[in-house]
Amino acid sequence: MFVKKLNLICLMTFLALTPVIAMPPVDVRKITPPKLDSLHLGKKITCHRPMRHGAPNMSITKQNGQIIAHNYGHGGSGWTLGPGSAQYVNSLLLASYASDLKKETPITIIGAGALGLFTAYDLHQRGFKNITIVAEKFEGLTSHNAGGLLAPVSMDNHPEIQEMIDKIGIEAYKFYESIARKKHPHFKEGAVIVPTYFQNREESGLEPYVGKVMQPSKDVTLDFGNGTTRNMVAYDDGIFMDTAKMMKELQTYLKKNKVKFIQKKIESFSDLKGKFIINCSGLGSGKLNNDAEMISIQGHLIMLKDQDPKELEYMILVYFKEGTTKSGQKIKRSFYIFPKHLPNTSSNDVGVIGGTFIEGATKETPNEEEFETLLKGAKDFYGMDIKEELQEK
Ligand SMILES: Cc1cc2nc3c(=O)[nH]c(=O)nc-3n(C[C@H](O)[C@H](O)[C@H](O)COP(=O)(O)OP(=O)(O)OC[C@H]3O[C@@H](n4cnc5c(N)ncnc54)[C@H](O)[C@@H]3O)c2cc1C
Repeated sequence: MFVKKLNLICLMTFLALTPVIAMPPVDVRKITPPKLDSLHLGKKITCHRPMRHGAPNMSITKQNGQIIAHNYGHGGSGWTLGPGSAQYVNSLLLASYASDLKKETPITIIGAGALGLFTAYDLHQRGFKNITIVAEKFEGLTSHNAGGLLAPVSMDNHPEIQEMIDKIGIEAYKFYESIARKKHPHFKEGAVIVPTYFQNREESGLEPYVGKVMQPSKDVTLDFGNGTTRNMVAYDDGIFMDTAKMMKELQTYLKKNKVKFIQKKIESFSDLKGKFIINCSGLGSGKLNNDAEMISIQGHLIMLKDQDPKELEYMILVYFKEGTTKSGQKIKRSFYIFPKHLPNTSSNDVGVIGGTFIEGATKETPNEEEFETLLKGAKDFYGMDIKEELQEK
């Protein structure tokens, strides 16, 4: 008893003598987890990132009298870099062939994904009037399916080109920001500003954007209201690129402005008659440009349905450990969630979860079991356990 009293006196004396250190208040953000039971899961999508080992190809070659500018191989960052990459490649082409390129000179773009459409849009802005897009497919592309997080991640850059990639990304950020802030002269939809959460600053790839176009990130705690909290880094001016909407906006604008669209598979550049070609054929460049560095990185996405859109105004990306798939392929798993909404679906069908990166996997190796792993990763992240799921049902 006496010892206890003495301890108490010691503790009180210690507290009285300890200077009060003002701790910054913890920024706790309450997030209601999405509904992830089977009734709230929609379409499952497998699609493939056009990745080029080393760096995207943004260069110009001359072949059999044709000038071919390349703009492909942006891996998991094609949307993030698209507008800036189009400006970069078009500027390179114009700087190299200024005297040959008149405003009426025919220019053919191969590919109608994000890279092809942004390239056409940028050329049109520069006053070119004779633009044709030739593509094997115009709908249901990787560019339509992509998640929509603006972050220069999941690509393979040589450190020497990182500065250039950051410049391109910063230009792209400005483009999307103007749409999100309703200041863009041509596009009303296609980008939204939402808080974006990563495990740490390094994994976001966005630190070079801070101070130039973005505000500094903050340390926050996400509280899912079920006893699970996660310490994360928040970029409150993150950008969600609404890929399906942006594709529609671009197609509509280009068609209205007399850019020609021709559906055709190109087997060789010599199939095309014009002198100036811009190759934006994504994964098709492996064969078309005989590029051995091109590789497909398979991704899995699950669309969510019947959610509360107000509860999904944010993005999260967390990485897990690397592993192997059932068939022994190397896989990098992650969990991400974005507020994606497919056209012609109910306004409550909001949200996409995703997060697989399987190098070399193609349409022929669908890895169906990865959808289950992805769902489990999402539930673990939000701290949802089996009991909770059963109650929901
Ligand atoms: C699951 C997943 C999630 C993603 N999430 C994001 C994200 O959050 N943020 C981000 O920045 N990026 C993301 N990406 C990456 C992004 O989607 C791609 O980098 C981008 O869409 C590539 O665009 P592209 O125009 O190069 O290719 P594609 O969209 O594949 O278009 C290629 C075009 O070329 C045409 N083509 C190909 N070969 C030929 C040929 N021989 N002749 C004629 N036409 C041809 C095709 O028909 C098509 O029109 C994601 C990708 C996946 C798979």
